[in-house]
Amino acid sequence: MLSLTPKEISDRNALTVNPAKTCQPIGAMYAALGIHRCLPHSHGSQGCCAYHRSHLTRHYKEPVMASTSSFTEGAAVFGGMSNLRQAITNIFHIYDPDVIAVHTTCLSETIGDDLSTIILKARDEGLVPEGKWVIHCNTPSYAGSHVTGFSNMTTGMVKYFAQENERHREQINLIPGYVEPSDMREIKRLLAEMELPSVVFPDTSDVLDAPQQGAPVSVGKAADIYPKGGTRIRDLQSMGDSRVTLALGPFASENAAIELENRTEIPARIMDLPIGIAATDRFIQVLLETAEVLEPPASIADDRGRMVDIMLDMQQYFYDRKVAIYGDPDQVISLTEFAVSLGMKPIYVLTGTPGKRFDARIKGILKDVVPGARIKSSGDLFLLHQWIKNEPVDLLIGNTYGKYIARAEDIPFVRFGFPILDRVGHSYFPTVGYRGGMRLLEKMLDALLDRKDRDDPEERFELVL
Ligand code: SF4
Repeated sequence: MLSLTPKEISDRNALTVNPAKTCQPIGAMYAALGIHRCLPHSHGSQGCCAYHRSHLTRHYKEPVMASTSSFTEGAAVFGGMSNLRQAITNIFHIYDPDVIAVHTTCLSETIGDDLSTIILKARDEGLVPEGKWVIHCNTPSYAGSHVTGFSNMTTGMVKYFAQENERHREQINLIPGYVEPSDMREIKRLLAEMELPSVVFPDTSDVLDAPQQGAPVSVGKAADIYPKGGTRIRDLQSMGDSRVTLALGPFASENAAIELENRTEIPARIMDLPIGIAATDRFIQVLLETAEVLEPPASIADDRGRMVDIMLDMQQYFYDRKVAIYGDPDQVISLTEFAVSLGMKPIYVLTGTPGKRFDARIKGILKDVVPGARIKSSGDLFLLHQWIKNEPVDLLIGNTYGKYIARAEDIPFVRFGFPILDRVGHSYFPTVGYRGGMRLLEKMLDALLDRKDRDDPEERFELVL
């Protein structure tokens, strides 16, 4: 399908071909689902909302709820205020959420709807029932990416819910970044192992990986449509009492942590996503400092030991292999560092999300091992394919959209990141922490060894490789 991609690379500033990102509201919708009993609301036309929901549904293989302001020509001309007011009234009446989390779309941003004012007015006029919330963030999709949208909605949570209650608690805030529900579950497990009480937000575990048990319906009562997971409002309101905020992934989580620091003086510590051995080590070290203990619990130390064991056992298959990595910036940064620690050579590293920090960070990781690596933020998969046509790689790692490149160039392919539309498992098995690292190692090694089994000549085809 992509076999006609030309090798010759020309400068393109005004055209993206096969984007390595999706649009802002998708990330905002995903973050909003991480609040308990929250209905994400798309302030724009139905088509945007349908696309965002279906993309999330196809990735998580779960129904994704969201409502829309359902713009038509009238809203495009006169603004979307009356649509949103009607939506707020209907949604609380029919679906009874605790929170409506509104995000904008390209259209409502272009019109210039002032959501803060509309929401405030709706509250003053009694359209928002007592004890219920309408929060919002701006997500113009002609800028940023789904990661920016996630960051904006997470920051919106801080703006609306953070209070200084002057009740200092022993808990910490943890913003897990744009990761899978399985990763959020694993991060919570690590916090529990370290005996660190915490508010994790957003938290999509038990929302987008909820067990299939059927909706609990009592006689005479409507089915409760909300899953059991998500961060509770009372916990979000207590974030202003915490000792520290740990934010994983600067692109997805930094803004919210800084916003909270500015409002409440709770110090923000920004870290990489704990993907791979070094980033997980740093994360555990920060948890140790926060918990004021010197050693991690034996279970965590043992997990690390097992991961190192696999790395040593299989190092020969990773060593010197050229790899191309693309996807969301926070994930790609940690994964690139992990690949280097395995002895691999990430010669192409690309994200669709804008941000010069990405280039600088990757350059820093690769400067001694692959000084000539090609690195690009705001890049697209067409460019990545052209790079690969000029110098092939042994392994391609990224979201589902890379499968066309993998097929055209016959490259082993590991699906990683967002979106993964054609496989399952990613929302159930973590890739963060040592346990997640072991899973990543397995996936990467399987891809390399399956190829070796396929391609090795008869005399080198071994039962035990
Ligand atoms: S890019 Fe803009 S118009 Fe397109 S789906 Fe996203 S929000 Fe809607």
